[in-house]
Amino acid sequence: MNTPQILIVDDDTALLQALPQTVSLRMVEVRVDTSDSAPGALELIQENDYDVIVSDIKMPGMDGLALLERIQELRPETPTLLITGHGEHQLAIQALRGGAYDYIQKPIDRDDLVASLQRALQTRRLRRQVKELLLSLELHALSLERLVQQRTQELLEANEAKDTFLSIASHELKPPLSSLKGKVQLLHRQLEHTDAPQVVSIGLLDMEHSICRMETLVKDLLDASMIETNMFILHRKRCDLVELCRHLLDEFTSGSGPIRTFEALGEPIEAEVDADRISQVLLNLLLNARKYSPKGSPITVTLQQVGFEATLSVRDRGVGIPAEVLSHIFEQYYRVPGIDVQDGSSSGMGLGLSISRKIVERHGGHIAVQSSPGQGSVFFIVLPLYIDPATDAIDAGKLAHHTQAVWTIAH
Ligand code: ADP
Repeated sequence: MNTPQILIVDDDTALLQALPQTVSLRMVEVRVDTSDSAPGALELIQENDYDVIVSDIKMPGMDGLALLERIQELRPETPTLLITGHGEHQLAIQALRGGAYDYIQKPIDRDDLVASLQRALQTRRLRRQVKELLLSLELHALSLERLVQQRTQELLEANEAKDTFLSIASHELKPPLSSLKGKVQLLHRQLEHTDAPQVVSIGLLDMEHSICRMETLVKDLLDASMIETNMFILHRKRCDLVELCRHLLDEFTSGSGPIRTFEALGEPIEAEVDADRISQVLLNLLLNARKYSPKGSPITVTLQQVGFEATLSVRDRGVGIPAEVLSHIFEQYYRVPGIDVQDGSSSGMGLGLSISRKIVERHGGHIAVQSSPGQGSVFFIVLPLYIDPATDAIDAGKLAHHTQAVWTIAH
């Protein structure tokens, strides 16, 4: 704490010498300044924030009461004690009415003076504390106000994002729905003609396609809403990622030609994952690879174990990802207006990759992409490996060994 500072003002030089000595002797750790006139005192008061000021009332020129008035203006927080002559009650009352903290009668009783000074110092300390508390309260209120403003802004933005999202969702659902409606009407009309069976089967195929699109959209919407409301639950089990990829690729390519495989394995690559969700991520990457690359170009899936991690990559030789999409590709509801796939159909709501990212992150892994326009794209999923808690020491030799599997499909 700072040393309390006291200012004593008196034109009586004998008293001006005696009083500081008395105060210094009876009060530890105080600094006492003196002035033999009110104007001199005012100069000191402007330079120093005294804790207490003691002044004689009767002084030539500017007297104690006038000095008190100026102190009230300059330093309203500083308690001021005025010294009055013996029996000068009227002056004492005037001093108190003028805002003096206390008055001391001559002849000065040293104990009374020290007691009054101590009370005044305590008052000053409390006033300071109150001021500091008020200041911190004001700052707190200010930061609360800012926080409320910030949260309100975030809410407004979230609301805006929801509105955009809803309009995109309804926009995306409309084409497959009106396509379904049109096909049904067409089939009704065609049924009256002789070549009905062939037209019906083509119509049914188209309808199936539209229904599939709507199913995917609805599923993505549900996943996004579950992620957003924290209801997205993983059912993780120990599983071999090689087997998971092999199985999914078999399903993905069924009826569309052979897979070229290179598996330098022998060992399974085990991770604790929700197999359905990881399959969903891989399928999404495969569907995108197929969607955004020319027919017949190869798609390569690589699974690699390095250290404590497994890296799964999906590479295509397609159109590549435009820079303006690339920087936001894993963000929710992101969609660059006007960027559609080549066949003219809509590019979807941009939910697939944001859901994929969430799924991979919930597994303790991460997802990344490398791409440049015209050069194809490669997506990487990195997942932590399963470590058997029963084995004391980790087989470092086994982990250091790079296990790899590569599947190439032409679509
Ligand atoms: P959707 O395909 O439903 O729009 P995604 O989240 O799966 O949603 O993809 C977001 C966007 O990223 C796509 O619209 C597309 O522009 C781009 N994209 C994703 N994968 C590829 C890829 N393999 N090649 C080129 N662009 C891609």
